[in-house]
Amino acid sequence: MADNVKKVVKFGGSSLASAEQFKKVHAIITAEESRRYVVPSAPGKRFKEDEKVTDLLIKCQSASANGGDYTTILEKIKERYYSIIEELELGLSLEGEFELIANKLKYGCSRDYMASRGEYLNGIILASYLGYEFIDAAKVVVFDVNGKFLADETNKIMSARLATVEKAVIPGFYGSMPDGTVKTFSRGGSDITGAIVARAVNADLYENWTDVSGFLMCDPRIVENPKPISVITYKELRELAYMGATVLHEDSIFPVKQAGIPINIKNTNAPADHGTLIVTDGDEHKSKDIITGIAGKKDLSIIHLEKDMMNAEVGFGMKVLEALCDMGISFEHLPSGIDTMSIVVNTSYIEGREKEVINEISEAVNPDVIHIENGISLIAIVGRGMKNAHGTASRIFKAIASENINIRMIDQGSSELNIIIGVEEKDFEKTLRAIYKEFIG
Ligand code: ASP
Repeated sequence: MADNVKKVVKFGGSSLASAEQFKKVHAIITAEESRRYVVPSAPGKRFKEDEKVTDLLIKCQSASANGGDYTTILEKIKERYYSIIEELELGLSLEGEFELIANKLKYGCSRDYMASRGEYLNGIILASYLGYEFIDAAKVVVFDVNGKFLADETNKIMSARLATVEKAVIPGFYGSMPDGTVKTFSRGGSDITGAIVARAVNADLYENWTDVSGFLMCDPRIVENPKPISVITYKELRELAYMGATVLHEDSIFPVKQAGIPINIKNTNAPADHGTLIVTDGDEHKSKDIITGIAGKKDLSIIHLEKDMMNAEVGFGMKVLEALCDMGISFEHLPSGIDTMSIVVNTSYIEGREKEVINEISEAVNPDVIHIENGISLIAIVGRGMKNAHGTASRIFKAIASENINIRMIDQGSSELNIIIGVEEKDFEKTLRAIYKEFIG
């Protein structure tokens, strides 16, 4: 009899790339009775130059649609699955499935249908290997006629279907439209399916198994061997993701965040590692560390404005923003002083339009000074621990100053969750390293 704890476990492509990886996954799942609902990706790369099965499937479909030779690619795909089945000594045949796929290819099938077969077939194998029930995602994940994902309807269907199933494998990445046509999420979308399943069964935890032991505090291409993040809140994660850190897809966070279900990023190749736990805000997750992570982005510009008595002029900010809005320019940050305002925008928005931007804003608010500075980068220092720590800002500034770096802009969100620093692009990496060294060592 299973206990009441329910975990949804999603395994990425590299975790299921070969029979050897399947064995690790089996050991992980069977180690805990609570790991009841399993969401697999398609087999990923086994080595650096290898091809992901999803890429092969898409190539295969496109070759067939263009009248090219697709059979060689299809054979390659078959081999990938058959080698897994044989090595695991499963008494399972996928012949019928491949016949159906070949038939569909012959008479024309959609890219989404073909791409989804990677997860579908891997799901069948994993279910057989685990002795779990296989549930085709096309039956429980639904999209509307225009291909828009229907979150609430899916939740209803999925909850009802899983209510009577103790243990199941539900392939990631796809669902179906009202006429039964298969529709996929965007690439990497198995993460989304995992989150949907976790919400539907009201899981205690959504484990996302991959090939790294969680998120790192900083980009490892900039800081050597950065420390992993052990606990991060959804809000912090959003700040870091917005500033360019590669984390989970926003859509894959939404369903579980809404339901208050934590996500644990774990490493299939090092299952004992703690990984990163993503939680909703709460006192129980007070951080010992002041900083949770540092991230940043480049290719930004600052529009500097100065005007005497600016702060007394009602509607000044509104007029500036209206002018930007009329030109279709959205802004990233808007730090302001008494008589100054800096508007940080993506350089791509204003490139080649500098004169127009200056003219429009000048017309709107008649500033004393207006100029644009390109080549700016922003760095966000994110941490829920900053709220309770004194002197964080001064430590950041001292660390940057000691490297002789000039700070061009400072912004602190009212939540005290982050401090954002603008520096010239040439100082970007140096600044990140200086801050990391100051707080982490
Ligand atoms: N197999 C799909 C892809 O490669 C979906 C996923 O792995 O999440 O994009």
